[in-house]
Amino acid sequence: MSDETPICSAKGCRAAAVWVLAWNNPKIHTPERRKTWLACEEHRDHLSQFLGVRGFLKDVVLLGEWEAREGA
Ligand SMILES: [Zn+2]
Repeated sequence: MSDETPICSAKGCRAAAVWVLAWNNPKIHTPERRKTWLACEEHRDHLSQFLGVRGFLKDVVLLGEWEAREGA
């Protein structure tokens, strides 16, 4: 874990990330694999829709919650 503030994954956005979008592309990932995108408040909907329409989106959780989960 780095000390740097996590930044939103949306193109061109430099806002601090608040959300973690966990996703999986069944064509290239094993089912338990999770890729993550970070999103600020503004881009959460946009990014989750992008993943959602493709059937990739698995979970949307607050960054703090995600880190607690990963660290557990
Ligand atoms: Zn953003």
